[in-house]
Amino acid sequence: MSPFAGSDPAANALLTIDLGALVANWRTLAGQLAGGGQCAAVVKADAYGTGAARVGPALAAAGCRVFFVAQLAEAEALKPLLPEGCEVWVLGGPLPGTVERFLAAGVAPVLNTPWQIALWRDEAPPGSPCALHVDTGMSRLGLEPAELEALLADASAPLAALAPRHLISHLVSAEDPAASVNRAQLELFDRLLAATRRVVPDIAGCLANSSGIFLGPKAHHALARPGVALYGANPTPDQPNPMRPVVRLDAKILQVRHVDAPRTVGYGATHRVAGPTRLATVGVGYADGYPRVLSSRAHGLVAGQVVPLVGRVSMDLATFDVTGVPAEALVPGAPLTLLGGQDADGVAVPETSLDHVAEQAGTIAYEILTSLGRRYARRYIDP
Ligand SMILES: *Cc1c(COP(=O)(O)O)cnc(C)c1O
Repeated sequence: MSPFAGSDPAANALLTIDLGALVANWRTLAGQLAGGGQCAAVVKADAYGTGAARVGPALAAAGCRVFFVAQLAEAEALKPLLPEGCEVWVLGGPLPGTVERFLAAGVAPVLNTPWQIALWRDEAPPGSPCALHVDTGMSRLGLEPAELEALLADASAPLAALAPRHLISHLVSAEDPAASVNRAQLELFDRLLAATRRVVPDIAGCLANSSGIFLGPKAHHALARPGVALYGANPTPDQPNPMRPVVRLDAKILQVRHVDAPRTVGYGATHRVAGPTRLATVGVGYADGYPRVLSSRAHGLVAGQVVPLVGRVSMDLATFDVTGVPAEALVPGAPLTLLGGQDADGVAVPETSLDHVAEQAGTIAYEILTSLGRRYARRYIDP
């Protein structure tokens, strides 16, 4: 059956998001936390492009209770879709003039700076949930360790009054278990957590992202915060991917042509046809988040065959060399898979895996996911 059955016939491509695989991935990650740590889910940037309004409730139904987003508006949109008892945390913390909106939405900030701590202390009622972020090496967001220590030593006990629920920090190179910065961060975080506990006894440690979970129990603490692995990217790049693919992108063939040399394909004439060739054009381009840098680099999958992308990716179109693919698989509207392709036995085809496509594009799975086009039809497979 066509993958497009039942989806908008006017859409050039269909993005299929397998919520069952997503939930299985969350369970796999939660299962790694053998010491009893809790597993949250990072659903910022619209659940890495996959749709927080579907992903959040699916994870909540599977037992996930703690969600992280980057911005307040993301939290405001997500919170009403989750069952009672779910927490939504905003990693970026409060901006001026937003405290009331945090309170009204029933969502909580991660406080990253002395300035945000003062804002929350001054404007939120005592006891309003908040978390604290200390920077152990990213130099991006979060209190300097010395700033945290100064707050802990402050006789007016500002942190005791705020009673933050979590102490958060973020790993620099968790995907590289050999990186020496991991040990340095884990040790510094342990030390800062112990110091904070002397003032805020119940504060919970929250350190590991997806890859951090695979650094072992020392990185787990009370709460882990995986993101990208939920969506199928490999959190252990040096080893086989323990996650299931979540995202699949099938494009419709718009045109098939037979060409004979000499002939070039696409803008800039960067690809020259060497002999009798069959070309198939699909209606997906860089405006859909299919990066132009994939020109003459990416592969698609059609009728079980891996086919090379030839010439430049243009705004709305990309062209593949489908010489050798049976003609009956090349009718207009037939599927050519760009991401997440599987062979007849359901085994992932490496050339179209999320991580491989990202690597071919000189980027990471995060960027491919969060760029996924707004013009695609979408289908969610329920758990
Ligand atoms: C995005 C983010 C995460 C999730 O990281 P992944 O590598 O996607 O698992 C966790 N913590 C913070 C602070 C983040 O910004």
